[in-house]
Amino acid sequence: MIDHLPPLRAVIRDHDLRAKKSFGQNFLLDLNLTARIARAAGDLTGADVLEVGPGPGGLTRGLLAEGARHVLAVEKDARCLPALAEIADAYPGRLAVIEGDALAVDPLAHLTPPIKIIANLPYNVGTELLIRWMTPAQWPPFWDSLTLMFQREVAERIVAKPGSKAYGRLALMVGWRADARIVLHLPPGAFTPPPKVSSAVVHITRLDAPRYPADAKVLERVVAVAFNQRRKMLRAALKGLHPDIETLLRASGIAPTARAEEIGLAQFCALARAVKDA
Ligand code: SAM
Repeated sequence: MIDHLPPLRAVIRDHDLRAKKSFGQNFLLDLNLTARIARAAGDLTGADVLEVGPGPGGLTRGLLAEGARHVLAVEKDARCLPALAEIADAYPGRLAVIEGDALAVDPLAHLTPPIKIIANLPYNVGTELLIRWMTPAQWPPFWDSLTLMFQREVAERIVAKPGSKAYGRLALMVGWRADARIVLHLPPGAFTPPPKVSSAVVHITRLDAPRYPADAKVLERVVAVAFNQRRKMLRAALKGLHPDIETLLRASGIAPTARAEEIGLAQFCALARAVKDA
């Protein structure tokens, strides 16, 4: 038992929180599991946590029981607010809830560094937020780490290495300025109701500065164009980027006949610098 609040099944029954598809709701009801996810985010004492999509509060309770200094939870489904208020009462001064769409709310004013972001979100919202959190106007971003649930296939794309089928934009975008690893695999049965696919929790720790110098916008464009036609040789896939792309590829240490999935981060950054200078 991680706290003295009622079991999540009772919370869901008493507050009539039947999962709605329109909110992408697949709840975690095992508090030992949610405490494990909280621990996967590292030491929470002394950190503020931004939790997106707390739902009935299973992960929220895990975060608080694991010692988070303060949790700010953003939830779109107003039906969940009374259940979350009960958790806030049990942990005085440590949980604040904002009702709203995480894609529209700016939580920064309510958070004090160091900040960790931890969430079990609908998969589509999670990927969109990951891309936003990884591409802020300035680096370092406002957060220190992201611990997020994804569809297993997306989790594998985030941590993929060159040469693998899963390797592409997500791995490069994350790997350029952060370390990412899968910390937990979850079968569909871990959720209520069970989703169709398996899930995995990815833990991402930001670096203070990018691994290799490059202009973020140029790098994003080069990588996007390269993987848009991942089976083509780079000299063909990238020909719209510059009239003499072959020379730029060679200058970056890349064979013009190579394909995007064979190219590592250091070479993509070199190519982004060459494209910018040209
Ligand atoms: N964290 C809870 C858990 O682990 O049991 C709930 C997980 S459920 C997969 C996703 C939660 O995100 C739901 O509570 C849903 O209402 C909420 N949600 C969906 N879209 C959202 C959005 N755009 N902004 C904030 N919350 C959202």
